[in-house]
Amino acid sequence: MTGADMKITAVRTFLMQAGPSNSGKPPRQIIPVVDESQPRLPGSRNWLFVKVETDAGITGIGECSGWPRVIERAIEDLSSLLIGEDPTHIERIAQKLQVAMMGHGMLGTVGGGALTGIDIALWDIKGKALGTPVWNLLGGRVRDRVQIYTHANNKEFALSAKTRGFKAIKCSGGSGLQDPVRKVATMRELLGSDVDIAVDVHGPPWLTPIDAARLARALEPYDILWLEDPIAPDNLDGYKRIRDASTVPLAAGERVSGIFGERELIEKELVDIIQPDAGRAGGITQMKKIAAMAEAHHIAVAPHSGSLGPVAEYAALHLMASIPNALMLERMEDDWEGRRQTIVPHPEQADGFLTVPDAPGLGCDIVEAFIAGFPSQGNVSVPSKTLDDRDRIGGEGRLYVQTRLRRGKYFNAGDE
Ligand SMILES: [Mg+2]
Repeated sequence: MTGADMKITAVRTFLMQAGPSNSGKPPRQIIPVVDESQPRLPGSRNWLFVKVETDAGITGIGECSGWPRVIERAIEDLSSLLIGEDPTHIERIAQKLQVAMMGHGMLGTVGGGALTGIDIALWDIKGKALGTPVWNLLGGRVRDRVQIYTHANNKEFALSAKTRGFKAIKCSGGSGLQDPVRKVATMRELLGSDVDIAVDVHGPPWLTPIDAARLARALEPYDILWLEDPIAPDNLDGYKRIRDASTVPLAAGERVSGIFGERELIEKELVDIIQPDAGRAGGITQMKKIAAMAEAHHIAVAPHSGSLGPVAEYAALHLMASIPNALMLERMEDDWEGRRQTIVPHPEQADGFLTVPDAPGLGCDIVEAFIAGFPSQGNVSVPSKTLDDRDRIGGEGRLYVQTRLRRGKYFNAGDE
């Protein structure tokens, strides 16, 4: 089967509530957007999977992040453009969908998420039709396994990760923004120099470029692998200021979509590591292009994938198997026990690496019956309280743009 006589017959979506968390991570509140009587679900979020069916009996699966509940509707809207198309002409379909979405504005993460789920599914179909893994369609394999990193925000979890073979961990800011330097110092002392440490402060709009530059400088002695999203992604000029002020490697790119979303970060060399989100960057097609753009600037690729579901992870694995500048993949392996039951087979993990799958296509399938047991309940998340919340607005919520008072409290740890 070459696909010459294959046509898309249906596009189905599977939206689920993944969680609640059992990882002991700082809680995140999910605010139900439909039914106010629903319980708040600490640590949970939505996963959206797509299944594209063909008249040849071959189906492909994909995954979308970006705002899954909204993207489900976007895919429903777009599906009429897919019916009857030959699924093997992946770039042609991507172009058709992008033209169809132009009237809604820039691609964004909703459009990017829709494009991604469909794109991954088409690569899956093409691989299955040709009897070969997706990485083989992308130029073949550069590596047999992909290094992963996990999140570790306390000593116990960091030591456990090291014991389990992880060669890298990430201290994730979130509510831990208060003491980032102290936290990194503790981790470095605990883990030694054999384990890489990345730091993510999640692009806080209340951290100005000059404060972020000071944070970056304070982190220099600890030789971190990267400082991620040090300021809001809206402020690219701010990245330049941080970069000029510090030698700490910077990473960003998870919140934008497609080659146009990542272009300035790469072309202006504002980052050392580019982090396209495996569920909303535009799919394997766009991520391969983003990786090539990055390669030309000696920028490494570390896809954002941690909170995504397992299908996006598979897609990232195939991409990273095939590109020279793949650094490592984010993985929250134990964020929810249901992760393992959502797809078959679960990827093979050993010694801080995932094995690159060998089966035709992506090499996995979703378990529809399991997914049906976890209907979506809400998908708007608010990070837990921060220093700024408590001090300025009584924990009632957080403004996107905030002025900063009490800088000394934030930087105390760095000055010690
Ligand atoms: Mg991040």
